[in-house]
Amino acid sequence: MSTRAEQHTAEVVRREQLSPHLVRLVLGGPGLTGFTSTGIPDEWVGLVVPGQFQSRYYTVRSWTGSELTLDVVVHETGLVTEWAAGGCVGDTVTVTEPKGSFAMPDDASWLLLVGDLTALPAMARICESVTVPTRVWAEVPDDPAVLGGHLPDGSATTWLTPPAPGASALAAAVEQIEWPEGEGYFWMAGESAQMRAVRKHLMRVRGLPHHAYDVMGYWRGNAVRQPRAVDPGPLYRAGKAAGRTDDEIWAAYDAAREDR
Ligand SMILES: Cc1cc2nc3c(=O)[nH]c(=O)nc-3n(C[C@H](O)[C@H](O)[C@H](O)COP(=O)(O)OP(=O)(O)OC[C@H]3O[C@@H](n4cnc5c(N)ncnc54)[C@H](O)[C@@H]3O)c2cc1C
Repeated sequence: MSTRAEQHTAEVVRREQLSPHLVRLVLGGPGLTGFTSTGIPDEWVGLVVPGQFQSRYYTVRSWTGSELTLDVVVHETGLVTEWAAGGCVGDTVTVTEPKGSFAMPDDASWLLLVGDLTALPAMARICESVTVPTRVWAEVPDDPAVLGGHLPDGSATTWLTPPAPGASALAAAVEQIEWPEGEGYFWMAGESAQMRAVRKHLMRVRGLPHHAYDVMGYWRGNAVRQPRAVDPGPLYRAGKAAGRTDDEIWAAYDAAREDR
């Protein structure tokens, strides 16, 4: 039974620890009856877990027509992390309608995929869905010998280790890539500051047109957002003088920090 046209309730029917930081959750139940996959291999859903109202986004690793599989990174602390780390089987969750972004041009002759552990589910599903030669760079905190089994056999994968827990150095890795000849497609996802740096690199150094790449910020690292580049004092005083509410002032502050 759908709760609204774009939302579905589901039960956690199975939980499997794939590696120390990756948990597979299989959702099922009658609430998923109306769920329809977009077929786009990096499609994601919003997930709302018990006792919460905010959603977090997760890639649809697979949809069988009755069961929806999500692979969830369990990191230090977080709404979904803490829930998924525990005994969540039997819990009822809400998932939103799926959306996807991967749009490889028909004439692409190769595909490059770059991502951290949060992007591994999407990279695995993308690998399963394409026929062009594909190279993968995966930055993971767990043993590649364990995680490699989740990519199709024969995937050409370079495994990278994060510089520290909760940190990423994928932007530097992208600068080292030797690009194939001809027209292809570049897909990447991971920590937002890394993604911003990579977008600049693709535009300014590689001169790629927009249709040749898709780079998505999947999560924001605290460490890379510090120290704050924006002094809130002047913004707060100016906001108050202009008669803005505190919410409006802090929204402007957040936007200013994101712009840097
Ligand atoms: C389109 C899309 C698809 C995604 N697909 C997946 C997926 O398939 N699997 C998956 O695990 N994630 C995926 N993500 C990322 C996931 O939504 C975020 O990591 C989310 O913040 C996790 O929620 P949380 O409740 O665990 O932590 P939050 O409550 O959101 O965050 C708590 C703290 O943890 C930090 N944090 C958040 N994520 C991470 C992380 N991965 N590593 C280290 N620190 C982190 C935050 O900075 C914050 O300080 C996807 C995101 C998007 C936008």
